[in-house]
Amino acid sequence: APSGSAPVAAAAPHTPERKPTEKKNKLLCDTPPNRLYDSKDKERYKRSHQLGVGGFARCFLVQNKDGEYYASKTVSKKSLAKEKIRMKFLGELNVHKAMDHPNIVKFIECFEDGANIYVILELCSNKSLMDMVKKRGRLTEPEARFFMIQILGAVKYMHSKRVIHRDLKLGNIFLDADMNVKIGDFGLAAMLLKDTDRKKTICGTPNYIAPEVLFGSEEGHGFEVDLWSVGVILYAMLVGKPPFQSKDLDSIYKKIKRATYEWPPNLEVSDSAKDLVRSLLNRDPAARPSLDEIANHAFFKEGLFPRSLPSEARKVMPKRA
Ligand code: ADP
Repeated sequence: APSGSAPVAAAAPHTPERKPTEKKNKLLCDTPPNRLYDSKDKERYKRSHQLGVGGFARCFLVQNKDGEYYASKTVSKKSLAKEKIRMKFLGELNVHKAMDHPNIVKFIECFEDGANIYVILELCSNKSLMDMVKKRGRLTEPEARFFMIQILGAVKYMHSKRVIHRDLKLGNIFLDADMNVKIGDFGLAAMLLKDTDRKKTICGTPNYIAPEVLFGSEEGHGFEVDLWSVGVILYAMLVGKPPFQSKDLDSIYKKIKRATYEWPPNLEVSDSAKDLVRSLLNRDPAARPSLDEIANHAFFKEGLFPRSLPSEARKVMPKRA
């Protein structure tokens, strides 16, 4: 290319709404209009800035007629042209719609215009646990206790509805304005018809994925895959990175297969926290503790247990605790 060619950013001065970095993925929707109308031409929401981008959705801050704020997960209809992707998206909507729990992102409604589908969700203004851990480096044990109990409540509820999330990770655990946990992104969730049903599809994020999903097993996998991920989440909160983190995918897989991980030697982590993580990161799914057993573990019975956390905890380590 000629060295004198204009930079991309300078080439698009007429589209101030969209910075060039906002949309790298062709499947992502264009920035929607400032006012969102449904297909019957009824005005529904005012659109504000982008909150985040995912695999095939952009998420915007929106405001309804009463001035209440929500998040609008926006998916372009073009990106749903492939049957497989459309089915995945509809599956996500159906599972999410059926969820009603204080620690799960509330599904409000869904509508469309000519270009996009808008999924209106409860707003989680304090971003995700991923962002918090990145900013803070790691969390304290009292904070981990506070988040874990809420995560366990949400997972227990999901499992009682026969839903396996299958993609539990720090980035899918959002925080509302009061720093309460809201689990979101049901893109990989599976609804089982019977408790004894097993799934055979490989999915999940490598770092958080259970060995029986990665390497397959005769019986397929079940609810226990979420317990493995909960173990990875607890470790990641306390250490600042997931236990099987590695340079390349291959070595991550190897470590998961053997369930080998280490605690950084210079880090102070309680024996009870280590014991809980060890019990969850068991290669044998049947040997992992039940959700009630986890909630009754010594980790939750010793040390401080905050009733609430301030929003500042997203950025700075609390003085006490
Ligand atoms: P995808 O399923 O395409 O990966 P996500 O559900 O992960 O999309 O959402 C993408 C991003 O949008 C998230 O990382 C987050 O920054 C933002 N986001 C998603 N849901 C909410 C919400 N309810 N409140 C605030 N921000 C959200």
